[in-house]
Amino acid sequence: MIDLKKISSKWQKRWEDKDAFKAREDPDRKKFYCLEMFPYPSATLHIGHLRNYSIGDAFARFKRLQGFNVIYPMGYDAFGLPAENAAIKHKIDPEKWTFDNINSIRKQQKAMGLSYDWSREIITCTPEYYKWNQWIFLKLFEKGLAYKKEAPVNWCPKCNTVLANEQVKDGKCWRCSAEVEEKNLSQWFLKITDYADELLSGLDKLQHWPERVKTMQKNWIGKSHGIEIHFNLEDDSRVLPMYTTRPDTIFSVTFVVIAPEHPLVDELVKGTKYEKDVEAIRKKVKKQSIIERTTPEGKDKIGCFLGKHVINPANGEKVPVWIANFVVQDYGTGIVMADAHDQRDFEFARKYKIPLKFVISDDGSRINPEKATRAFISDGVLFDSGEFSGMDNQEAIPDMIDWLVKKKAGKRSVNYKLKDWLISRQRYWGTPIPIIHCESCGPQPATIPVILPKKVKFAKGNPLETAKDFVNAKCPKCGSHARRETDTMDTFVDSSWYFMRYCDPKNRTVPFGTAARYWMPVDQYIGGIEHAVMHLLYARFFTKALRDLGLIDIDEPFSRLLCQGMLIKDGQKMSKSVGNIVDPAEIYENYSVDTARLFILFASLPEKELEWNSEGVQGSHRFLNKVISLTEKKYDKGAIPKDITDQERFILSKLNSTIASVTDHLEGFELSLAAGKMMEFVNEVHKAELSPVVTFKCLETVSILLNPFAPHLSEELWEKLGNEGFSSRAEWPKPDKVDDSALYLKSFIDNTRKDIISVMELVKIDKPEEILLFIAPKWSYKAVKKLKSEMSKTREMRHLIRSVMDKDHAKDIATLVQRLVKDPKRLPEVVLDQAKEIHALENAGLDKEFGAKIAIVKAEESQDNKARQALPGRAAIMIR
Ligand SMILES: [Zn+2]
Ligand SMILES: [Zn+2]
Repeated sequence: MIDLKKISSKWQKRWEDKDAFKAREDPDRKKFYCLEMFPYPSATLHIGHLRNYSIGDAFARFKRLQGFNVIYPMGYDAFGLPAENAAIKHKIDPEKWTFDNINSIRKQQKAMGLSYDWSREIITCTPEYYKWNQWIFLKLFEKGLAYKKEAPVNWCPKCNTVLANEQVKDGKCWRCSAEVEEKNLSQWFLKITDYADELLSGLDKLQHWPERVKTMQKNWIGKSHGIEIHFNLEDDSRVLPMYTTRPDTIFSVTFVVIAPEHPLVDELVKGTKYEKDVEAIRKKVKKQSIIERTTPEGKDKIGCFLGKHVINPANGEKVPVWIANFVVQDYGTGIVMADAHDQRDFEFARKYKIPLKFVISDDGSRINPEKATRAFISDGVLFDSGEFSGMDNQEAIPDMIDWLVKKKAGKRSVNYKLKDWLISRQRYWGTPIPIIHCESCGPQPATIPVILPKKVKFAKGNPLETAKDFVNAKCPKCGSHARRETDTMDTFVDSSWYFMRYCDPKNRTVPFGTAARYWMPVDQYIGGIEHAVMHLLYARFFTKALRDLGLIDIDEPFSRLLCQGMLIKDGQKMSKSVGNIVDPAEIYENYSVDTARLFILFASLPEKELEWNSEGVQGSHRFLNKVISLTEKKYDKGAIPKDITDQERFILSKLNSTIASVTDHLEGFELSLAAGKMMEFVNEVHKAELSPVVTFKCLETVSILLNPFAPHLSEELWEKLGNEGFSSRAEWPKPDKVDDSALYLKSFIDNTRKDIISVMELVKIDKPEEILLFIAPKWSYKAVKKLKSEMSKTREMRHLIRSVMDKDHAKDIATLVQRLVKDPKRLPEVVLDQAKEIHALENAGLDKEFGAKIAIVKAEESQDNKARQALPGRAAIMIR
């Protein structure tokens, strides 16, 4: 008897010893790149990882069996805050902490029997990897795509670091949930905005990406068409440009607002009595994060008057200039028109008693601003808007843009919400940014690799600043004393191109060579929806930037994307905080690795939520044991003879239809449906009485179909059947033509059995003596066959009767056609013939089953009225 627990380590060792899953470039073979998002190395794997990997491995195995040259690598996203936090908290070396975790997680992955090519493993915190982050950074720096600028940043006071906008959730740090502050710092940026348009248009080509991911990216890029309108300062030659997508509200502008951090504010207010007010507002605003400031339901709107006015170019009106916290410098020009058609503007105006004016209402009638309690934000009809009054406001927008441009009061403008990617982190455990700052030459590229120093102190602030040998450097250009950059890179840089390094992981001269041209793009990428924006957008940006550096010739890194669903237990998302985590090791110990993998794949479609339940696990375990019990039947390799039983004919047909549907479901990523079809088949084989050669054929096929789901058992069966090599490297079975009639005979018997039971219930006989089965008359099979094909074209009764007419049975045919047209459900799926149906019933073992004599009667040989009810595919039943 096969022991599911014991066979896992046996096969894992053999795979490793024989390099069973090593991938090699081969231009003559079609490649397939299957990839899961690489993990951050925390100490233990959880069920979420298990699901991610089981899905990826099943697909990689399927493609390999289909004959593709599969690359399926694994590695570790090893830089990042937790290692540093462990260093601070437990005084552990971050490197040791990270490698201990990697060793532990790798061991757990190997225990799952995943078919990775381990020779391609990469670890991002090693100089062999991060040297190439630096190499790419310097290429981008050379091209002006990496630059440094003073900028307000989101600052987490608890993590003591800068956060990207994407890392601020509801004004709080994404890692520690501390309240985020704003701070001005000189920071390194990557110019992702240069690719904004291509990142947006490229989404249309990604046909095999989930729509919701594409929508999230689209919204994140946030392209809008609008106009930059120029307001002249009163008694001044200077102009305040303001970007808007709503020029239809220009006649309602009663004030304009500048972002408090805008450099123009100082110029405008200098030497006026408003200087103190501005300073006070700025102080308060600094403590607020950008998200807080800009969400409508954010904190109080605060601001002050700057003592200046501008002229509205649309109507020549003079309006005051204010600063306010809800306007940020990063959007548009950092200056906006303010009016009664925006709720934030409205609330601000009410608070500071600034007059308001409406120009849009539902029907174009005036709204009294004194009585209004909120902004009018819907679309409607314009009034008090010069020549545009009476127009639908949305329809007026293009005309108003034309009008303003013609007046030289503005220019057309496209704006993006997407900002350049801030990659500077004031933390230790990351890739050092390879720059040396020289007082006279400015920032200079450093020789790479710039190795992360070992001797640092983890106090408050950036630990790298405490390594004096590291900080002190010589300017590579003039040789004078200079200071090394101490910022490290956002770890999202590491994950933006690791999939290309896998293609050529040992390359010592470039990040990756021509091998990447063979393997890329990733054909199937699998990971969580939480990476829909940051990781997936940055990886797309890097691919385009590396393409423009001549390293690769593709535009998009991931052809097909699957975001696996959440894990649920006891009605809640599985998480540490809820305390409903399932430990995969427990399932391995109580059942087996194959059990855990099969349960995960069978319980739910990959992109749907997966509800954890132990009965399901037990069910999967029972199924695998059922497969094992098939090996207790007699089996023998050999050719299948021509004269086989109906049951064998049914099983072989079922085998072929199972191969076909398992293949289709796997192609369509419906892993649970594929597993279901396989289980159905194994159940049929289990029940059937088969000759040894037919049993062998079934077992051999099952041993391969099983490979993506339960690879260890698959190998064990394959070996037991006397095969050489691995089932993992065998050939995926191709279905023979499916014998529909054999499949149909089986359902004919099943239906007859059901009918007998319902007749027994109806006449209240538990133990019948005799069961009469009336079989449809011989001529009717031909007629029904013809009728079936005619009925697919028309339901016209006279035509149908004429088309199947047969002089000998004219009256009966008319009745038959009328009956079937009225109730087409009675038409059999496949029309056999009388002899086959009789033969099948004779061999179905119904006599044993019901403990009664079975009499099979041809309808044409009986005078009984009941006999006339028999139809092809449906015996009429009488019980005595
Ligand atoms: Zn934090
Ligand atoms: Zn210099």
